[in-house]
Amino acid sequence: MNILDQPVVSPAIVPRAEHAISRANISESALKVLYRLKSAGFESYLVGGGVRDLLLGREPKDFDVATNASPEQVQGLFRNCRLIGRRFRLAHVRFGGDIIEVATFRATYQDEVDEDEAPRDLTLNENGRILRDNTYGTLEQDAFRRDFSINALYYDIRDFSIVDYVGGLADLKAGDLRLIGDPDKRYREDPVRMLRAARFAAKLGFRIHPETEQPIRTLAPLLGDIPPARLFEEILKLFLYGFGVQAFEALRRHGLFAQLFPHTDAVLDLEDQGFPHIFIAKALASTDARVAEGRPVTPAFLFAALLWEPVRQRATALQASGMHPGDAYRQAAYEVVDEQTSHVALPRRFVTPMIEIYQMQPRFLQREGKRPLRLIGHPRFRAAYDFLVLRAEVGDVDQDLADWWTRLQVADTDQQYALLDAHRTPSPGNGRRRRRTRGAG
Ligand code: ATP
Ligand code: MG
Repeated sequence: MNILDQPVVSPAIVPRAEHAISRANISESALKVLYRLKSAGFESYLVGGGVRDLLLGREPKDFDVATNASPEQVQGLFRNCRLIGRRFRLAHVRFGGDIIEVATFRATYQDEVDEDEAPRDLTLNENGRILRDNTYGTLEQDAFRRDFSINALYYDIRDFSIVDYVGGLADLKAGDLRLIGDPDKRYREDPVRMLRAARFAAKLGFRIHPETEQPIRTLAPLLGDIPPARLFEEILKLFLYGFGVQAFEALRRHGLFAQLFPHTDAVLDLEDQGFPHIFIAKALASTDARVAEGRPVTPAFLFAALLWEPVRQRATALQASGMHPGDAYRQAAYEVVDEQTSHVALPRRFVTPMIEIYQMQPRFLQREGKRPLRLIGHPRFRAAYDFLVLRAEVGDVDQDLADWWTRLQVADTDQQYALLDAHRTPSPGNGRRRRRTRGAG
């Protein structure tokens, strides 16, 4: 590899008076980092989502800093600093719950070997995927190594101007998501950029520029090469930040969902627009609503929804062969999760509650005796009940059943006995109504 002799490009520089970012919008922690680097004689810029979101009038999720200080030099300046990452070494500076990610400028490169070049730390695999990149460069080089033009805008702490090497400001105005450089090559370097394209398009409501969009469907299988743990993190960023419905649609539209959830996707393809599609969209909509209200959301519930249809189908088959319902759901869930985790990691601590949510579904059908009140006391009852309510909304179980459980929870003791009495004999025909509802939407 060879550090590319990038022709010197002059950036567009927007002075402080002509853009909407003011220091007041930037977190105390980010300002501390920016100013301490500057006082120590380094360049320091706010970059990435912080700049992008502030320019769009949105509240940034976090702040990222770019500097010409090496990670070790950054660490020398902050007590509360940890160096992370092997592929990309970064410094994390922590202030209370706030983490500022500080990245050293990355150099550009080309795919030729030149022995005379300065020492580098860059490794690509045979597909052109970057396995390691810790070759440091200049601000200009760093700009061209970022993913999308709207993510490559730098806010200069020296004079509060914005530095734009890649036409990011114009794309931001136009609502265009454009990969910097040759899209095919950039996706091969890091296939996760395809997921990031879907994420930013969903989050910002931007259009993926046609040239940026074009290679995605063909290159989507390269995601098979990405460590499952990294994909798990990306999935949380796609689905747990309030734009999950749009993210799901974007992933489906570009052939990316199949790479992440092949079993679910296979079912969706069979019944597009039908039951499973609506169920996932509803689950994501309810998650989005919770995020909007500031209520907690959990990966266990999300994955339970995303894998429900393959699990349900397998559990039904196991029950048909004589297995007890609870066991059937547990076994089906373990099988599906097992296959799923070869694509996307799913940490144990989320698998257990997820399987509890599934196992409780057949138990909701039992409405007599002491069982219902015992079920209400189960630590995972609330999540499993929320899941049942969603199922009822799409006709996967009778609405009456969900309503009954709703009433049982809020009832006083006398009312609870009345509700239980009303169900001395389990109601027959508590089957799914999907046969009737299928094709209706
Ligand atoms: P978010 O709002 O989700 O934090 P972000 O754009 O800040 O969005 P980060 O993952 O925090 O995303 O990354 C910070 C910046 O680092 C990005 O804006 C981009 O400039 C750069 N970056 C991150 N991931 C990649 C990647 N895979 N390839 C190239 N550049 C990347
Ligand atoms: Mg960020």
